[in-house]
Amino acid sequence: MYVAFDDTDSVTSMCTTFLATEVVRALSDHDLIGYPRLVRLNPSVPWKTRGNGALCLRFGKGSGASSVIGQIGDLKVRSHRRSLGDPDQDELMERCSRLLRLWSRTQEDASPGLVVSPSPPSPRLYWRTVREVVPKEEVMEELRRIGASALELSGGRGVIGASAAMAWRPRDRTYEVLAYRAKERWGTPRQVMPQDVERLDARFPSTFNNYDHVARRPAIVPHSPCPILFGIRGDDVSELPEAMRSVSSEPVDRWLLFMSNQGTDDHIVRRWRELRPWSSYRVEGEVVRAPATIPGGHVILRLRTKAGEVDCAAYEPSKEFRGVVRQLVPGDLLVAFGELRERPRTLNLEKIEVVALAEHRRKVSNPACPDCGKAMGSMGRGGWYRCKRCGRKAQGGERTELVPRAIEEGWYEPPVRARRHISMPLKRQLARGLRS
Ligand SMILES: [Zn+2]
Repeated sequence: MYVAFDDTDSVTSMCTTFLATEVVRALSDHDLIGYPRLVRLNPSVPWKTRGNGALCLRFGKGSGASSVIGQIGDLKVRSHRRSLGDPDQDELMERCSRLLRLWSRTQEDASPGLVVSPSPPSPRLYWRTVREVVPKEEVMEELRRIGASALELSGGRGVIGASAAMAWRPRDRTYEVLAYRAKERWGTPRQVMPQDVERLDARFPSTFNNYDHVARRPAIVPHSPCPILFGIRGDDVSELPEAMRSVSSEPVDRWLLFMSNQGTDDHIVRRWRELRPWSSYRVEGEVVRAPATIPGGHVILRLRTKAGEVDCAAYEPSKEFRGVVRQLVPGDLLVAFGELRERPRTLNLEKIEVVALAEHRRKVSNPACPDCGKAMGSMGRGGWYRCKRCGRKAQGGERTELVPRAIEEGWYEPPVRARRHISMPLKRQLARGLRS
């Protein structure tokens, strides 16, 4: 029996993953089948809270091998690979509803949804919800088809994300271990040893998004008043509990391992005919206008793609990544990953591959007059010149020199803090030897 929920948190507090630990504890008379799933959905949707993450858990009667995937108080959380039978759907609905009502932040801006179902929705629902904006009516129809029951609070927008999380059949997956704080510490500054976090990348090679080595800041520690102490992400789930214990910190109140689509690029549309706002794309193109820095420190660059020209933006929070984008010149060939915003219509860059650098030339002097040999003066536009002595007009012929390029061909991405949860970091992409 699958249980999924979403949109229980608000921008300022709580966290849907914490509710997952409460559900696991409350339903410990049933067995947990597989890993709890933390599923990030379309990062472009306008009403997302912090990370647009939904949760899905599966309960049953465990059989065969099991492993410890967490600790909640005295409860060692075990996960079983297979299930021999389902708990009662109505019973699960009733018990989870109570928890959802207890922990949701509906008095703030949450719009929680809970779905309980004996079988998951079509995987198509996941792929649409991670890449587009899906209307709720369509989701409700799919829930009726599979015999799911749903609870909607304060509008119940969360039903969409919950159903999508349940519909996820991983093609690619990562894991995250989340460590939580004792309740009396919620909202106070977190005690986590930065030096230990800095060492994670080297000590646990399959982990990623740990530390900003330029700003010298841990990236695993949230800055909201939520119950999470820190979260470590990685490809090898067996490394994560040890990675967690290698970080000295205030006491860890509870911890739990999640399977996730974080770091997978599942949100990126690779085959497309036109670019639509509220989706994210892989775009190939040639730089046609040199990058310009606009007020606010954002850098804008124009790319010619198969679907016409599109402005790409490296926003201020992407920090040193903007320095890379500023080095591009017309003629450079790129692969760009990013979300298309509606207004202003820009592709918000998540990472780029510089595929080929153009020859960058700079004018050294104006041409000499073909009639009298005197240096000509520029007429301003279109590369036209006029001789100051005899008035002869001519186009082109200026002397240029090659400007050495300050960047190399290859991949570039923003610092950890400016990355999407779902974007595949280059560390992971390069380890997998993936071409774009
Ligand atoms: Zn002349």
